[in-house]
Amino acid sequence: MTGGADLAGLFKVLGAGFAIDPAAAAVTLSLRSAARAVEARELFYRALNGLEPHFSVFIEGLPYCFMPDAWDHVLYRRKTGRAYKAVSQCASCALSGFCPGVVAGGPFARELEKELKPVLPLPREVVFELTKRCNQACRCCFSDRTLKEPPLKKIEAQLRKAAALGVKDIRFTGGEPFLSSSLLPLLKTAKKLGCYTLVNTNAAAPAGLYAEAAPFMDNVLVSLQGSDQASDEAATATPGLFGRKLANMRLLRRTVPVFRLGTVASRNLIKNFKACHALAARLNADVWEIYRPMLADGSAAGPEFDLGPKDLTGLSARISALKPGGPRVLLANPLPLCLVPEDERKNLLGAAFDDGHTRLVYDLRGFYKPSYYIAENLGKGIKEAWRSAYMKDLRSFYRRPGGCRDCRYLLKCLSGSRALAKARGGSWFEEDPWLPAKIKTKNSRA
Ligand code: SF4
Ligand code: SF4
Repeated sequence: MTGGADLAGLFKVLGAGFAIDPAAAAVTLSLRSAARAVEARELFYRALNGLEPHFSVFIEGLPYCFMPDAWDHVLYRRKTGRAYKAVSQCASCALSGFCPGVVAGGPFARELEKELKPVLPLPREVVFELTKRCNQACRCCFSDRTLKEPPLKKIEAQLRKAAALGVKDIRFTGGEPFLSSSLLPLLKTAKKLGCYTLVNTNAAAPAGLYAEAAPFMDNVLVSLQGSDQASDEAATATPGLFGRKLANMRLLRRTVPVFRLGTVASRNLIKNFKACHALAARLNADVWEIYRPMLADGSAAGPEFDLGPKDLTGLSARISALKPGGPRVLLANPLPLCLVPEDERKNLLGAAFDDGHTRLVYDLRGFYKPSYYIAENLGKGIKEAWRSAYMKDLRSFYRRPGGCRDCRYLLKCLSGSRALAKARGGSWFEEDPWLPAKIKTKNSRA
């Protein structure tokens, strides 16, 4: 095993730096000399994996496209007195327009140019909605159950196109996807095509369906809305399923490599946080995600879900106070990160996985849309949808000068929820309604 002194030596030899800020629970990795940049990049990716659960990690001294799988950690802004130039990769890079380009005459513009890969030329993940039917009636749910299921062949054709384009992560969701007879054949096809498969479920379907599908699932996200029978029934408005769900969750834990739990934040969760966490630990979950309540029009599903920023910051403090061990607990959807102290931000996933920043959702009506909550019809082609004017506009809000522009958390936070910002005022350039007052008014369209 590499000791601390060996690792420090390796950083030095590779022209890399490592700085830790304990007060902010943050680590900065920096590339000081590009001479051995390719080896340093390997070291940075490995370090990132190990450090991320414990620290906010920033990477300095290289353009986003040198570490495109860690773009949201890279700090790279225009510096005065330097000349920049575009490279061929910029044409398909999702960060063009925000990124200044590579330093003209610098090492990335010359000998390392072939190492540069555009950031997100296509979505990292495509989500397929299989059905809107469900065996529960959760109070936080926004599914429209009147919509009809698409035929298997239609989704399979889209899945094949996604895989052919190189999209690696394929997710199936609902309603409850295990109520759709398309799920199992689609999982089998996705695995044959070499995809990483994710499934969202409430774990309330018959056990045999989970046993059959598990060998084709890499990652499962189970919706956990209560810690016992009474709280589960109150949240799901469906009696008698809690025992079955527990048994199915144990089965999924045993048989699927990554087992995650997800809970929409509510007054009930705040009251029962300890019991829910204990259940997530007993189920041996890898991750327990807690979500800010979201609805398409920005309104809450009822008083139970009508939370404010203080409720979420309270949850963040409770997550930070948890003893080590047990599942990793995250606030997992868009939220202005500066609502919480810096040392708690490692427990916030930010917006990068939401709001159409890294994935597209195939709506069961037969078109791509930016996210579960943003039902804009972007058409029938992945490439066209991803590069559409609508998506360019969505992704352009953080390119404008403003209060968030110089924040080192910007590419993780993305100024909070774009869906709720737009619901508030009709434009991506509105502020997240929970943006702290100290940066309000600075984030508007320039
Ligand atoms: S815009 Fe160009 S220089 Fe900047 S990260 Fe993308 S590919 Fe690299
Ligand atoms: S990007 Fe903006 S909202 Fe997010 S942490 Fe920074 S200042 Fe706050």
